[in-house]
Amino acid sequence: MDQYYRNRNCPCTRCRLNDLMGPVMMITLGLLFLIDFSSSRVGFRHLWPVFLIVIGAMKVLQSSASTAGHIQPGYSPTGVIPPVPGTQQSGSGQDGQVRNG
Ligand SMILES: [Zn+2]
Repeated sequence: MDQYYRNRNCPCTRCRLNDLMGPVMMITLGLLFLIDFSSSRVGFRHLWPVFLIVIGAMKVLQSSASTAGHIQPGYSPTGVIPPVPGTQQSGSGQDGQVRNG
């Protein structure tokens, strides 16, 4: 593979790990607040570096994850790239004629 470009519709491990970054951050933040509220000795001011460690660990996992089966964005096995929703269809001119090629 020449260059890796993230594709939200790709089933490969690296693309799926990219989508997990947000949920993992929310879970980590929730756990840190839970510890902060339930413990009087250990507070968020002691635990905030855990957040940075989790971010770094996720980045290491993402960069080392396999890209086997990766599909570059915009790739289509039929050679026809489906139109982006909300944009005008191409291939139809002002005169209503459909052009091929
Ligand atoms: Zn992928």
